[in-house]
Amino acid sequence: MPVVSADKQHVFLSRADDIAALAVSVLIPLPLDGCYDYLVPDDMALAPGDLVRVPLGPRTVVGVVWERDEEAEPQAPVKLKAVVERLDLPSLPEVTRRFVEWVSNYNMTPLGMVLRMALGPPEMLRPGKPRKAYQLGGSQPERMTPARERVLGVLKGGPPRSATDLMEAAGVSRAVVVGLVQMGALDQILLPSLGLAVGNSEKPDADKQGPDLSGDQRRASESLRASVDANIFSTTVLEGVTGSGKTEVYFEAIAASLRSDERAQVVVLMPEIALTEQFLNRFQARFDAVPTGWHSGLGTRERREAWQSIISGEARVVVGARSALFLPYPNLKLIEVDEEHDSAYKQEDRVIYHARDMAVVRALLGNSPTILVSATPSLETMVNVWEGRYAHVTLPVRHGGAVVPEIQAIDMRSNPPARGSWLSPVLSEALENTLSAGEQSLLFLNRRGYAPAAICRACGHRMQREDCSAPLVVHAYGQRLKCHYCSYSVSMPEACPKCGAEESIIAYGPGVERLAEEVAKLFPEARIAVMSSDTIMSPAEGRRFIERIAAHKIDIIIGTQLVTKGHHFPMLTLVGIIDADLGLSGGDLRAAERTYQQLWQVAGRAGRAERPGRVYLQSYMPEHPVMQALAAGDGPGFYRNEAASRQVQGMPPYG
Ligand code: ADP
Repeated sequence: MPVVSADKQHVFLSRADDIAALAVSVLIPLPLDGCYDYLVPDDMALAPGDLVRVPLGPRTVVGVVWERDEEAEPQAPVKLKAVVERLDLPSLPEVTRRFVEWVSNYNMTPLGMVLRMALGPPEMLRPGKPRKAYQLGGSQPERMTPARERVLGVLKGGPPRSATDLMEAAGVSRAVVVGLVQMGALDQILLPSLGLAVGNSEKPDADKQGPDLSGDQRRASESLRASVDANIFSTTVLEGVTGSGKTEVYFEAIAASLRSDERAQVVVLMPEIALTEQFLNRFQARFDAVPTGWHSGLGTRERREAWQSIISGEARVVVGARSALFLPYPNLKLIEVDEEHDSAYKQEDRVIYHARDMAVVRALLGNSPTILVSATPSLETMVNVWEGRYAHVTLPVRHGGAVVPEIQAIDMRSNPPARGSWLSPVLSEALENTLSAGEQSLLFLNRRGYAPAAICRACGHRMQREDCSAPLVVHAYGQRLKCHYCSYSVSMPEACPKCGAEESIIAYGPGVERLAEEVAKLFPEARIAVMSSDTIMSPAEGRRFIERIAAHKIDIIIGTQLVTKGHHFPMLTLVGIIDADLGLSGGDLRAAERTYQQLWQVAGRAGRAERPGRVYLQSYMPEHPVMQALAAGDGPGFYRNEAASRQVQGMPPYG
């Protein structure tokens, strides 16, 4: 029989049977490997998945009621604390609990750490504040104006809306809404915050007609639709050159999934960097609704609303970075992994996992289809295709007759740039021609700042941080030194800290700023802009930048990997890769594969509309298989060779 302790904090259970009967196992989202037992108060009924608040040491924490481990014999006698409360939130779905266990097991990570990924930050679980919303009131406005009429029109027969949402939908100022409230034509009400935010409650319209698909696109979308309709686990790789309409085609799969089940949820994973406003707008244009976003740019309130609308099943389509895979979807029917080859899917801190592989596992546990999308699938994925584990659907040509750009390697040994510059004569001539044709160019150099290193001419010392020896990178057009691992920054020293020589420190090698300087000297009339994480610090800035490029307010874009993703610029016809060899050094076993994927992706920015594109790769080793494959457009050959050489060396995915 349970015995209550003198201070009433604990209950002693003397028999194992009592524990099973009177207590529950609770998993807490902390780096703990197992569950703790808690006594269930008499007036509480709990089932696995329920979110509860429990005492832990001096505080209380939120945890999830977990299935009792049948193998582990309860240890009696024990002293237990009681569950404090059951949170008023839907339970964590069973499939999410199994997924947490699987990921924990496979990646050898404490169960509680993986649970934390499903629960998100602790604020997700707090009930949000009720939100003010407006509905039609009892009276009519004294005087009807077109603006007032529009506001009332928006609310007629529709759900209540927030003021901001009303203002946007009716195109009126706040004063109009306030005025209508004062005259009793609108009533203010409070809505609970659980579920979709007010005004975000529109559902994606799965029946809306998409564009007319080409023959290839139709065939691809039919196979994807068949996998969705089968409603069982499958993995399909959608491979197609950039601009071939992969996004249009996978939108069809999303539509099919939403149509097949009125509660179906879909998640589209993207590398964080590709999750742009442009993509969300495109989704909205296709489905007349904004998808639920999940990424680092969201504030706490937006995240909480997203999380709660996902667990409540209201969010139908979620577009998010890799962590969105772990969210508690009660009815996930389709998982799409866009740019599946991207290394951003690999998380290497705290819980180590590869989101693409975990997506396949999540699909297996939920018995649902998954689609991996890329212009350059990872070698791992291609091996799965060759071995028949994944289905393969291809889009071989660009949409609307746009041709795949011609790619040419420039041998820098026979075409060297002038001293202290980085553009070969061939590339600068191409820039000049593009400029005079009134078209846009993109120069790609994956190096932030002005120069990758600062070196003393007198003693050869490379500038670094004294305390941790991190190398310093030259920024601010030669004025500052910055560390790329933290926020450390100093002005360029006047004398060498090692040998003391004055004015001896020089910037060594090119970064995007230095390249911009060279281009500005060559083409003083051109409008030049640098796109890197130093110039684009927020999604809003990114959006403005993209708009300026699309509106042709920039002639030459100089960018790091930020420019590689998903944008579509019809006037961009020239791409110059400044240092195609850059990614090949360093001995990573995936160096060749990554370089191939990255350069092919950048090359894909050229000539996406009627105007054909040209791509130049500046290389000191144009005979390297990566350069050869890119120039010949021979992706399949490159993959076969790469796979063969990994197999011989016993390296992943074979080793
Ligand atoms: P990918 O994802 O393969 O790079 P997208 O789906 O972005 O290709 O398509 C490239 C461009 O072509 C986009 O602007 C897209 O809207 C357009 N497009 C593709 N297919 C069609 C189609 N069938 N009808 C109209 N526009 C299309």
